[in-house]
Amino acid sequence: MADITADPANWLRALPAVHELVDAALAVDGAAPRWAVVEAARAAIAARRAAILADAGASATIEPAAVAAAARALATPPLRRVVNCTGVIVHTNLGRAPLAPAAIAAVVEVAASASNLEYDLAAGARGSRHAHAAALLCALTGAEAACVVNNNAAATVLALAALAGGREVIVSRGELVEIGGAFRIPDILALSGATLREVGTTNKTRLADYERAIGERTGMLLKVHRSNFAIVGFTAEVGEAELAALAHGRGLPAMVDLGSGCMLDRARQHAAGLPAEPTVAEVVASGVDVVCFSGDKLLGGPQAGILVGRAAAIAAIRSHPLMRALRPDKLTLAALCATLALYRDGRDREVPVVARLEADPAALRARADALAAAIAAAGGPAVTVEPSVATVGGGAMPTASLASWAVVVAGPADALDARLRAAAVPVIARVADGRVWLDVRALGDDELAWVVAALGKG
Ligand SMILES: *Cc1c(COP(=O)(O)O)cnc(C)c1O
Repeated sequence: MADITADPANWLRALPAVHELVDAALAVDGAAPRWAVVEAARAAIAARRAAILADAGASATIEPAAVAAAARALATPPLRRVVNCTGVIVHTNLGRAPLAPAAIAAVVEVAASASNLEYDLAAGARGSRHAHAAALLCALTGAEAACVVNNNAAATVLALAALAGGREVIVSRGELVEIGGAFRIPDILALSGATLREVGTTNKTRLADYERAIGERTGMLLKVHRSNFAIVGFTAEVGEAELAALAHGRGLPAMVDLGSGCMLDRARQHAAGLPAEPTVAEVVASGVDVVCFSGDKLLGGPQAGILVGRAAAIAAIRSHPLMRALRPDKLTLAALCATLALYRDGRDREVPVVARLEADPAALRARADALAAAIAAAGGPAVTVEPSVATVGGGAMPTASLASWAVVVAGPADALDARLRAAAVPVIARVADGRVWLDVRALGDDELAWVVAALGKG
């Protein structure tokens, strides 16, 4: 008998046919979708063929179980839940704010049936999708009017286009921020059709700087919240009320891009150990024409851009042609209205972001202890419970460090981290000091079991 290893062609002939490998893989995992098994089988055979051509001694054996596993991976939904053990409460890469149960229920209800999205039930006629959230937003912030778009970047572009398109917008040099994901104030201004007029310096901008820059071409005075960085030391900036008074004295609108949009009052911010942050209501009360902020940062609702302010300014924004391109869908509005209703009803601690911002470190320690005990009970790897530092995230309150607790896992960090990410429900940990930290601040109590499952046996 000829030596089969002498010629790669013999090995190639030994490779299974696609249908054979598919049948074998389906025998291992009958529930894997057929299209995925076929794709995985073809890929496995092609890889084996390439390996044989590169090295005549390579094996032609393909494990059906490996094909079944690859098929399962192909069929996994591309967007899925993960467990946030990073200690970053509003993690932009992890979908920002998780919704409150009431918001989820509202989404489910509106998703499953017809709704009064643009129908006025009292009048029996066409209504406005903006009316639903506007009433709640006005009640909560003291604004005269409100509207909602898809995100705060859209809100900024829209408001600039509607109120200052083709004219100059005066902004402090200390506020020409980049938020991430290519949101840069100078670019956003250019996109809106307005022209940037910078005033002041990086660290100091005075009222006189704005005053001197106002001219025939001025369309607006804009203040941008320095969401994701802080300027400390020798600094000066102009407050919202002063800016609004100056603008109105010259017949101009003033706008504040507030970024995160905190609704917790100063006492609660302080009690939670958060740096003082102007609330939306405070900025509205300062008299500026428009305040815009995100729905899914500190507010803890769905991704949305919220605009509140004077009736005339909001009316101009609502009637701008871009509004049609940026309007939110019914699911967003349902989640947003339900989230806002929790604030109105004094039930804002049901908003996960609020609960996580205000979590008591003693309760976090208890949760970390419970997680460590559950890991031990499941025969998982050795762990210790250690103090940790959590952050707000979402480009909000960059200087805040919140006392937290973490379960720290013994063992090689990178391998462990990769295993956690590969779990059926992936767990995203923090790797620091060469160790894997599972911070419990951004977790829900119902998520501990996923962490235990992802760690597996020690
Ligand atoms: C986050 C942020 C934005 C962008 O908001 P999105 O909702 O992410 O589009 C704009 N301006 C400021 C100041 C921000 O902090």
